[in-house]
Parts: sequence; structure tokens; C-alpha cells
Amino acid sequence: MAASKPVSKLVSHVIVDLDGTLLNTDSVANQILKSFLAKLGKKWDSKSAHRIVGRTPLEAAAAVVEDYQLPYSKEEFLSMITPLFADQWCNIRPLAGANRLIKHLRSNGVPMALASNSPKSNIEAKISCHNGWKESFSAIVGGDEVEDGKPSPNIFLEAAKRMNTEPSSCLVIEDSVAGVTAGNAAEMEVIAVPSIPKQVDKLSSASEVVNSLLDLQPEKWGLPQFEDWIEGTLPIEPWYIGGPVIKGFGRGSKVLGIPTANLSAESFSDILSEHTSGVYFGWAALSTRGIYKMVMNIGWNPYFANTEKTIEPWLLHEFDEDFYGEELRLAIIGYIKPEANFPSLESLIARIHEDGRIAEKALDLPLYAAYRDSPYLTNPLPESNS
Ligand code: ADP
Ligand code: MG
Repeated sequence: MAASKPVSKLVSHVIVDLDGTLLNTDSVANQILKSFLAKLGKKWDSKSAHRIVGRTPLEAAAAVVEDYQLPYSKEEFLSMITPLFADQWCNIRPLAGANRLIKHLRSNGVPMALASNSPKSNIEAKISCHNGWKESFSAIVGGDEVEDGKPSPNIFLEAAKRMNTEPSSCLVIEDSVAGVTAGNAAEMEVIAVPSIPKQVDKLSSASEVVNSLLDLQPEKWGLPQFEDWIEGTLPIEPWYIGGPVIKGFGRGSKVLGIPTANLSAESFSDILSEHTSGVYFGWAALSTRGIYKMVMNIGWNPYFANTEKTIEPWLLHEFDEDFYGEELRLAIIGYIKPEANFPSLESLIARIHEDGRIAEKALDLPLYAAYRDSPYLTNPLPESNS
């Protein structure tokens, strides 16, 4: 996933979408719909998620009613699920890079608007759960404040108007097809950050498609660049996961010299949905052996309809035996790059080794080395842990 068209237009203002772009709304929406449908004896299929991303609440409700042949009108269904969502607003987590982007633009004085198909009151409720968000936007436009939601350009045009600027000075950041269409129709520059990997082709009308907010390069648009990359790595808010090492897909990675100790992705589907696919690094602890440098890939597993990701940590150490079943704990503290396609196996292997060298070196920087002593890695397992 890389830049699609050469970029020449400079902008001064940024308009961001909320759900799926700044917030991991899908994960909460999936949980709510799953349990609602279960009570009706129906099974939520993550494929339906593709039909609700970026739609207005009523459109999304209509899609679910139709897909599951529910015995309600779309309005009735919407009124039944709205309170379930309202209970969960503060459980919706920011997506990777959202806080970083907001802080960066705000501290550099770049005017920023929020433009979402959700009603204004829902937007306000959602962002009130996140420190510093509300004050960072000089305008907030909800779907109920204009005649037509996205894919109509109205929301974005209204956002530009409220920032007292021209559409041509605005850069839109969007995850959905409807949002990209709306941004194009508003004659704004559009960066697409797909929340559903399968939609990448449909987003190609954007000026640029990036893997995640972590990969934004605002300087391409004449905006201040991020200053936080260090030696080819980006420090991220650390996250910690662990569990017994399980059998992977038997891809024979040991033959390639790159064994990856798999954790059960199912146990981490929520935390993984917040984190973009890509190459990360950090520290790995094996309960009986020690703490090692680690580089890992988070990726989409084609066998799971593109909603489940796998975690593939490669410990940067030579072991003389396997350690299946042992407790493995990871502190993931830095990002290197998006997942990419390679023309050949050799080039893939070469790139993984290069990522390994980048991680190996970066982990000696005091900033990253400090996490080697994280209690999560160094504390023994509690007795009760099973
Ligand atoms: P699988 O598909 O079962 O994960 P791999 O070929 O990826 O098989 O090998 C991974 C296994 O190899 C790990 O589960 C672990 O037991 C072992 N192993 C040996 N050395 C390493 C290493 N440096 N990093 C990760 N796993 C290793
Ligand atoms: Mg493996």
C-alpha cells in the first residue's frame, strides 16, 4: 500500500473523519451487533461489517435489517440499538496514531475539523472520552447538520466554511469509500487510511492511500512533518500481550531461517484491531529462558475473511530447540513500516533480515532499552495463572 498519485497540492487545513479513522468504532459495533443478533438466534458475520463502515446510522441499520432479515423496520432496529451504543461510547479506543496526529497538528497550529456522518451529539459524546480531543478541533460537523451525509460533499464543505477556508486548502483523512467519495466531490485532497483491507482498490480515487495514521507524511502536503521517527523507527505507546506459544501455519519458516513463535490471535482480536498491520519490534520474555530482542509482523490472515490478524514474533536469538507451549510475553514498543508485497521470496527474506537489523540496533537506544525491564516481562507468572 503506497502513494498512488504524485502529490503536488499544498494545504493549510485538515478535516478528519471520526469512526474508523480516529476511533476503533468497528470493534465495539461488532460486539454490540453480535450479541444483539445472538438473542434473535442469528450469527453476526464480520462480512456485514463491510456494509456498515462509513454509512449513516440509518443506512447501517438498513443494511443489517436486510442482511439478517430482521422482523423490524430500519427505524425500529436503529431505536433498539442506539441505547446499546450510547452505553459503550467511552469503550471505543483511539486507533493507532490518532492521538499522535491530533497532538501534532494542534501543537503546530494547523486548524483541524472533525466531520462525521454520526449525529453531532454522538460525536461530542464519543470525543469527550478522550483527553484533549474536543479542544483540538476548530469545527465539528455532524451528519444531522447538513442535508445529506457522505458520500455527498456537504459535510466537508460545511467544515471548510466553519474554518473560514476554501475547500481547495483542505486535506481530508478518511477510512471509508463513502468518505473518500465525499472528499473528492468537495474537491479536496484526500488521504485514505483503509479500515478494511479489502477496500483498498475502491479507495484508489484518493490522492494517497496509506496503511495507517502512523504512516502519514504531512510534509508532502506542505504541513509540518512529524519529528518523532528515530533511526528508521517510530516509538509507539507500548502495548503488552502474552500467552503460550502455539503451532503456527507450518509455513516452514524455520527453513527460511526465520521462525516465528505464534501467539493465539483469537485471544487478542480486540487489541489487534486497534493496531495496524505492519512490522513492529520490542522485547520478548520466555518465562524459563530470558528476555530477547524481537521483531514482529502483524498481518491479515487471508483464511479469516480479512478480519483476523496474526502476530508473528521472531526472537532475535539462536535457540537450539523449539519452545512450543512456553509462556511468551511481548512488549511492543516501536513501529518500522507497513506490511508490503514482495516480487520474490528472496527479497522478502532480505527485507525481514533488514527489519531485524533495524530492530536490533534501535533496541539499544535508551528510549527503547528501558522497556527491557518492564514488570510485565520480568515478573514471574502468578501461581493462579493457567
Ligand atoms: P510455526 O508455524 O509452528 O510457528 P515456525 O517455523 O514459525 O513454525 O517456527 C516457530 C517455532 O520455532 C516457535 O514456536 C519456537 O518454538 C521455535 N523457535 C526457535 N527459534 C525461534 C526464534 N528465534 N524466534 C521464534 N521462534 C523460534
Ligand atoms: Mg510461526
